Amino acid sequence: MAGFVFIAVCIAGAFVLAMRRAPLWVWAAAVAAAVLAWRTGLVYGDWHEPTFNLLGLLAWLPVIVLAGLSVPAVRRAALIRPLYHKIKGILPRVSATEQEALNAGTIGFDAELFSGQPDWEKLRTVPPITLTEEEKAFLDGPTNELCRMVNDWAIRHNDKEIPEEVWSFVKKHGFLGMLISKEHGGLGFSAQAQSLILGRIASRSPDTVTIVMVPNSLGPGELIEKYGTPEQKHHYLPRLAKGLEVPCFALTGPTSGSDAATMRDVGYVTKGRHGGKEVIGIRASWEKRYITLAPQATLVGLAVRVIDTDNLLGRGEDLGITVVLVPADHPGVEIGRRHLPSGAAFPNGPVWGRDVFIPIDWVIGGEKMVGHGWRMLMECLAAGRAISLPSSSAAGAKSLLRNTSAYARIRKQFDLPIGKMEGLEEPLARMVENAYVIEAARGVTASMVSRGEKPSVISAIMKYRTTEGMRRSLNDAMDLHGGRGICDGQTNYLMAAYQAMPVAITVEGANILTRSLITFAQGALRSHPYLYKEIQACQDADEERGLEAFDTAFCGHVAFSLSSLFGAFFHNVTFGLFGHVPDKAYGTAEWYRQLWRASRNFAFVADLTVAVLGGGLKTKQKLTGRLADALSELYLLCCTLKRYEDDGKPANDRHIVALAAHNGLFRFQEAMRGTIDNFPVTAVRWLMRVVVFPFGAHYKPAPDWLGHKAVELVLTPGEVRDRLTRFIYVSNSADDPTGLLEVTMAKVVAAEAVEKKLDRAVRAGQVRRVHGTDWIGEAAKLGILGDGEVLLLREVEELTQRVIAVDHFDPAEVKPHYMMAGHNARAIRSAAAE
Ligand SMILES: Cc1cc2nc3c(=O)[nH]c(=O)nc-3n(C[C@H](O)[C@H](O)[C@H](O)COP(=O)(O)OP(=O)(O)OC[C@H]3O[C@@H](n4cnc5c(N)ncnc54)[C@H](O)[C@@H]3O)c2cc1C
Repeated sequence: MAGFVFIAVCIAGAFVLAMRRAPLWVWAAAVAAAVLAWRTGLVYGDWHEPTFNLLGLLAWLPVIVLAGLSVPAVRRAALIRPLYHKIKGILPRVSATEQEALNAGTIGFDAELFSGQPDWEKLRTVPPITLTEEEKAFLDGPTNELCRMVNDWAIRHNDKEIPEEVWSFVKKHGFLGMLISKEHGGLGFSAQAQSLILGRIASRSPDTVTIVMVPNSLGPGELIEKYGTPEQKHHYLPRLAKGLEVPCFALTGPTSGSDAATMRDVGYVTKGRHGGKEVIGIRASWEKRYITLAPQATLVGLAVRVIDTDNLLGRGEDLGITVVLVPADHPGVEIGRRHLPSGAAFPNGPVWGRDVFIPIDWVIGGEKMVGHGWRMLMECLAAGRAISLPSSSAAGAKSLLRNTSAYARIRKQFDLPIGKMEGLEEPLARMVENAYVIEAARGVTASMVSRGEKPSVISAIMKYRTTEGMRRSLNDAMDLHGGRGICDGQTNYLMAAYQAMPVAITVEGANILTRSLITFAQGALRSHPYLYKEIQACQDADEERGLEAFDTAFCGHVAFSLSSLFGAFFHNVTFGLFGHVPDKAYGTAEWYRQLWRASRNFAFVADLTVAVLGGGLKTKQKLTGRLADALSELYLLCCTLKRYEDDGKPANDRHIVALAAHNGLFRFQEAMRGTIDNFPVTAVRWLMRVVVFPFGAHYKPAPDWLGHKAVELVLTPGEVRDRLTRFIYVSNSADDPTGLLEVTMAKVVAAEAVEKKLDRAVRAGQVRRVHGTDWIGEAAKLGILGDGEVLLLREVEELTQRVIAVDHFDPAEVKPHYMMAGHNARAIRSAAAE
């Protein structure tokens, strides 16, 4: 018995030391104490002098090894130096452009999730959504006005272009310069405000938001603001802020899409004439495509690789990617005709040039920034990717939910609002979850960017998860609307988003690439507590310095790995019961516990994956994609809990949070299971299985009743529905297709009891509801309905007919006349009229 207790104490001790990441000397001391207790009979209560036999000597061996390794000089000579050389060959090789990408941006809460022991307080210090009075006034003033004035159908179908009055309005009110500081004539709004403004416009018109989003995202404005010379700032920023310049940013070319860094666009450093004198510049040739706003741009931000064959700048030959500002009317700059991306109306087209002389002063940041373009782009992308597309995806998920739930309440089949049928409850519940979670993540991430973070891994998560989430909501919304969603026209409020969806999926890092390469494969290097330090140490030109840094990082890594292994196993066998919960987590403690446990599992599997696959990680994209899914589930669930707390834990929202938590943990589990089941090394696969799933996989998707509760909340007008769809543009005019939904839904809900009376009369055969009869009048004559009820039902009937109606056209109206001369439908039509 005493023997068992002794073994149990040893195991418990090992767990405690490993989980607390004890240093080597503590391990040595602990093992020494255990050996001493065993060899002296202390365990059995009969102390005696230790006997010196072979077993006794062998028992001290681990103590000697551990004690030896805890002496730095011994450890380095015996272990670290040989390992340092070996690991140099195994660790993923980092190219120069990857290095730039890795150095760009900041590490934030993603590192907490990689650590396996997230500090909840760090999450809580992210400010809740806050706007200044000026930002609020802009959101409720010019932004609402812009939303009211855009006619999405006319833009994307009739005119195939953004009307001049919309351009003038956005320029006049400074929409194009939201990120430009006040000092330079811009609005100087926070990332949170920009995100909310973009979202509100997106909820009205994907085309209109694009012309506002691009100047406020990765592009000349942001690059000049961050890296421009004083002259560039002074000249361009006020002009960009007022819309006197329309910018575009040209990076992508026919041969360089996702792999933009391998562009063939080149600029040779040379001398040439500019402004009447000879200056140093670059002679550039490029071919770019898909460039948003290019057909209308006056200023082109251009990325080219600069080569200085004659070493005129004195920095060697291949200087690397460089960003220049070229006026669109500069001789040799060619802006082509328009692409038609997904039938959208925002301007988009190719840009090219051959042997165009560009003075060196036009490099953003001047001569010293030649060759630093990739870093600049990655830096801005790290912030921009967290704002632009997540804001329009969140707005999309929210407006889809608002409009679809209204339609599902209004539209009846089988005498029942379709939203109350279980089959449709499933997609509606998904839409509720999506709208809540995406908005939660949008809000938290925008607050991080507002306080100065440029979270590169989180922004990748946000880009691919929010756009995928919106795609899911769109497909669900389409299914729920049936033919009403499919037939396009003035009253179709789904089609614009449906058409534009592939654009969001593709730009700013296409989703498959972002999921399978950027989020985990590069994210692991970024957010893992020790990996990048080890790589940097291995790449250090000074071997002794590198060795010392490697020693520190490696020892930390070993302690971290042991902690992850023992920690994950401990929390799995105890079902997360001891997971760390922050203060005052009333109502959400269980989700925090499970998140802690999940984070432990993620840290363990991620660490082992990186250690075992090393340089092969980048090619194992099915594994890295699943790990990206797992990491993103953790992040989204953290944001969901934070939103719930920031909103003051409204009682009704707890069902939605529970729905999201159940489903999020289940998806996390499936991502981990997929990773482990497909892990290519058998022994490691089994170790992962035993540690992560000692009793099998037991998370389940949210139970049906939770989905039912969530849908019930959104099918009824009120505070939950409003909160779920906050910050979007909501029309209350029956003359607007989405406003008509609002007005009709309110009437339908008010008329529910009366409708039931009428339905009963129809079922009983007292009145016949067919064309050519006045069934409401009949019911009134029979005394089934009173006068007020008749009025109400007639109104509901009239409104409902309008809601379910679809547009139809004269064949001549639907001819794609915009293609006839390649552009400008309005000019063609007015020419035809003349
Ligand atoms: C409407 C629109 C507007 C745009 N606006 C601009 C703009 O203003 N400025 C600009 O410079 N560019 C712009 N782009 C370009 C956009 O950024 C690129 O389309 C995008 O980077 C993808 O490149 P690609 O289309 O050539 O696809 P490809 O690079 O050919 O990719 C094809 C598929 O392969 C996947 N893939 C590629 N490499 C990998 C990998 N290593 N691992 C896993 N998957 C991978 C991608 O995810 C994608 O699914 C725009 C594009 C569109 C469609």
